[in-house]
Amino acid sequence: MVQNGHIGVTTDNIFPIIKKFLYSDHEIFVREIVSNAVDATQKLKTFSDMGEFKGELGDLSVRISIDKKKKTLTVSDRGIGMTDEEVDRYINQIALSSANDFLDKYKDNANAIIGHFGLGFYSTFMVSKKVEIVTKSYKEDSAAVRWSCEGTPEFTMEEVEKQDRGTDIILYLDEDNKEFLEKEKIDSLLKKYCKFLPIPVVFGKKQEWKDGKYTDTEEDNIINDINPLWKQKPAGLKDEDYLRFYRSLYPMSIMDEPLFWIHLNVDYPFHLTGILYFPKIKSNLDLQRNKIQLYSNQVFVTDSVEGIVPEFLTLLHGVIDSPDIPLNVSRSYLQSDHNVKKISNHITKKVADKLEELFRKERSRFEEKWDSLKLFIQYGMLSEEKFYDRAAKFILLKNSNNIYFTLEEYKALIENAQTDKNGEIIYLYTTDKEEQYAHIEAAGEKGYDVLLMDGQLDVHWIGLMEQKLGKTRFVRVDSDAIEHIIEKENNTKVELTDKQKESITEAVKSQLPEMDKTEFNIDFKQLGEASRPIQITRNEFSRRMKEMAAMQQQMAFYGEMPDTCQVLLNVQHPYIKELIAASEGMDKEELIAQVSSGNKLKQMVDLALLANGMLKGEALNNFVKRSFEMI
Ligand code: ADP
Repeated sequence: MVQNGHIGVTTDNIFPIIKKFLYSDHEIFVREIVSNAVDATQKLKTFSDMGEFKGELGDLSVRISIDKKKKTLTVSDRGIGMTDEEVDRYINQIALSSANDFLDKYKDNANAIIGHFGLGFYSTFMVSKKVEIVTKSYKEDSAAVRWSCEGTPEFTMEEVEKQDRGTDIILYLDEDNKEFLEKEKIDSLLKKYCKFLPIPVVFGKKQEWKDGKYTDTEEDNIINDINPLWKQKPAGLKDEDYLRFYRSLYPMSIMDEPLFWIHLNVDYPFHLTGILYFPKIKSNLDLQRNKIQLYSNQVFVTDSVEGIVPEFLTLLHGVIDSPDIPLNVSRSYLQSDHNVKKISNHITKKVADKLEELFRKERSRFEEKWDSLKLFIQYGMLSEEKFYDRAAKFILLKNSNNIYFTLEEYKALIENAQTDKNGEIIYLYTTDKEEQYAHIEAAGEKGYDVLLMDGQLDVHWIGLMEQKLGKTRFVRVDSDAIEHIIEKENNTKVELTDKQKESITEAVKSQLPEMDKTEFNIDFKQLGEASRPIQITRNEFSRRMKEMAAMQQQMAFYGEMPDTCQVLLNVQHPYIKELIAASEGMDKEELIAQVSSGNKLKQMVDLALLANGMLKGEALNNFVKRSFEMI
């Protein structure tokens, strides 16, 4: 008997909507029909366990096959199947109330539309001109039915012969979607969406290399791992298991081994399982993102967990599986969802717990891994208050001799020597041990310690720490003469007339090479007879502004500003004293003429530039030539 009917949609026709709005994400139909097949199979297993189904379970694999001639793609299962009544209820009576309102809101989110309407099955019409369901219920004496629909609200349903219980979904692919008849295409989609489904998914046969070509063997090609590592009990797992699983998650990319990992397993008040790996992160934060895969009951949902975990955690790798993360809502709604908030807090806490445990129990291992962890931890401290509070206990500072300290330890180390006359503790740091060598040395001679701050986020992190610690300043070693970075008592004023200052300033400037985007300010300082006559320093504030600007677009204005360097003349050095004496009897032009006739000032200016790695190109060449001549 053939039955004709009308699908119960409340809008005129659901099919144009499906095609039009879901088009961008149309490959997800694979996920939808395969996971329906898996659900139906799992239900049968449950019924069997409960004694409600007494027959043989037999082979429960879900099978996918392609018929290129008929242009069909078929997904078959041996699950619970459907009676004709059930097909009518679950397939025909789809509710589409207020569909238009909804589509307006969620135009760009295929997941939202599909989830909201329970349109999983109907997503097949994104790619098919006709879809057939051939199904037979597990219930005794059920008749098999064939439901068929050509992408219009009309369908047909008739009784047919079917040997076995379960369901075949047969897609007659339309002209535009013939790519889904390609073995490679389906293979890659199954690997993307179905890799960890809990029932074996079979696609063709395993192949072997024989007589110069690949040929099918007898063995089924199972594409999924039905018991993925994150679902297993951590107690029985070894490091190798976690490392192997890590590689299996990213078969296409070459990645360093992770530093360590956490196995998540929560039952209450929400369900969450997963494994998060801490990758080695040295630079380039952006390249590292979106390596966490989100699953819902082992069905792949997305590899963008933005909005589900705090931003800094998107740098981690691995898997999160939770049926409690709503998939049928937009990203902005996610952040305000109650469960998502709890899940996010839980993960943040677990990450902090892991780091703290490692720090407390295995400090030396923690230090070994520090350089690859630092960026991640700093990012967390900068962006999440809660994480800051935890991390402040285990964040490490590394000094220029490669020794690691906690914040507390470091403060104790420098507090005595590096407190200035205003009671501020000065944390000295270098961003480049080679380039700033002379300044580090000078600080060392005073008994000061210098931190190494060469990371991508250091400049931001320093700013944060100054706010948090109070009475604390971070100053780069080359930002002033060391005596002035940590001022101990009021330095006596330099006794020079304005006219003298002006002449000497002009004389020194006349000896400086032309440098692009660099400005020099001349300053007079009492630095002691034994110190160098001329030093070049960079102002801490303007340098930090420029560095921050390099990372943030809205601050581009600072990036355009020239580099400002201070040229410090040590008025206690014999040569600078000579220069001052000479300036007394001469006007500006005469002084310039005098210093230009000799090499001495030029040579000293060049040496000061050289000590900062600033003497380059022609100026460096001239300096070398001049030095040889002088010898
Ligand atoms: P959802 O899976 O979100 O409920 P679908 O549109 O994908 O929505 O499916 C609607 C219903 O059709 C399912 O809930 C299920 O009852 C039934 N169904 C779909 N596929 C199968 C199948 N392979 N075997 C048995 N029942 C199925």
